[in-house]
Amino acid sequence: MARRPTIARTVPALRRALAKADRGDIALVPTMGALHDGHIALVRRARRLARRVVVSIFVNPTQFAPSEDLGTYPRTWAADIAKLTAENVSLVWAPTADVMYPEDFATRVDPAGAAKAGLEDKFRPHFFGGVATVCTKLFTQVEPGFALFGEKDYQQLRVITQAVRDLDLPLRIVPVPTVREKDGLALSSRNVYLSTDERAAAPVLYRTLKSSASRIKAGEVIAKVLADGANDIARAGFVLDYLEARHARTLASVTSRDDGPLRLLVAARIGTTRLIDNVAV
Ligand code: AMP
Repeated sequence: MARRPTIARTVPALRRALAKADRGDIALVPTMGALHDGHIALVRRARRLARRVVVSIFVNPTQFAPSEDLGTYPRTWAADIAKLTAENVSLVWAPTADVMYPEDFATRVDPAGAAKAGLEDKFRPHFFGGVATVCTKLFTQVEPGFALFGEKDYQQLRVITQAVRDLDLPLRIVPVPTVREKDGLALSSRNVYLSTDERAAAPVLYRTLKSSASRIKAGEVIAKVLADGANDIARAGFVLDYLEARHARTLASVTSRDDGPLRLLVAARIGTTRLIDNVAV
């Protein structure tokens, strides 16, 4: 029978648990818990890279605005540990907020570049500062040779990849493709917020991304394709935050297919739930 992972809740306990491991032996999967098959895909990819897979579970308060869902964010600790036990994860890093941010905490990482692309940052201005700060701390705490991030949060993946390069952090960021439901909806811990009707409407996001990507590949004008896509998403009952084509690496704006490898990104709200998704063109 698989053994329950060790749970470290303080930095000294984490360091003790990892004392004998080299960087190259450790792959880190940062999460906020409420684990689903998307997170498990990251764990399985991590397992192929390194002997020790460390999963962090930390609902990071600094990436939520006061108006957002920090208080109600799903917390499913027992189920998370059962899933990680089944995956043979040996160590879970689960600091409390005061371990991560003691009262006199005063230093933040302030990313620019992809973090100021006018996508998620426009709607969640505090978000990437919080994410970059906590990920930098996770990387220096765990000292992994690899850290796995989902393409589901594409701008986050770009921001963290850039931060690791800019700060000369000695690890490799490894992207993992988005895991989806059968109808295309990207798995997300926030999908549990959706009512039955909202859940039925939600696959429009992926459907629109896919059809827009094919039309752009076929040579149609990007602005026209995105305007049609925005209409389809609104008709399904969503309020659109953005549907944009961007350069896949820099996230700079583009006007034509020739402006680089492209990525289509969407964020939209239905009821009280905000969903994001993206695809390659
Ligand atoms: P979260 O717990 O939502 O902060 O996500 C933790 C990690 O899991 C991030 O790197 C996410 O991009 C990744 N992730 C979340 N959902 C998915 C998904 N559907 N497929 C692949 N990775 C995902």
